[in-house]
Amino acid sequence: MSFKRCPKCGDVKGLAEFHKAKANPDGRAYYCKTCANASTKAARDKSPELRAAIRGHRFTPDGWAAAVLCHMRQSAKRRGHPPPVWATPTAFRAYVETFHGDAFRALWTAWAEAGFATELRPSMDRLDDDRSYTADNLRLVTWKANRDKWSKSTTNRELAREKMRLLHAKRD
Ligand SMILES: [Zn+2]
Repeated sequence: MSFKRCPKCGDVKGLAEFHKAKANPDGRAYYCKTCANASTKAARDKSPELRAAIRGHRFTPDGWAAAVLCHMRQSAKRRGHPPPVWATPTAFRAYVETFHGDAFRALWTAWAEAGFATELRPSMDRLDDDRSYTADNLRLVTWKANRDKWSKSTTNRELAREKMRLLHAKRD
């Protein structure tokens, strides 16, 4: 029976005490099972923190700005509009602070007090739906208000679709 030394704990152990690893010359893992299992557990224990940090970022103004800018980019692309005028989340965040500072703080407070319920999430609404996301074409509303604007009336939705068709037809 062969033995090898685990470089982590320094113990000399039989090969059976090392996980199988076909890629290695001796067909066994570098570290012993005890050390390898401890590393796996440490990584797993660490990941809820990581997940919580990522989740938490969504509920910071910077995280919000990054998510909203990403949404605006996708939305503009879908509509065949020019992309939003802000190149980075930081630039977009600065714009919100300058032009919608009071509204943003009020909406943010309400959203936070509601435990960050989706319906109260601050959302950017275009004043003129035919135009893209520019500094003078936006106001802040709640996510729910923005959704209701588009879904309340089927007529509105149909009109918007018709407008899109006409725009595309013109371009082609
Ligand atoms: Zn070991």
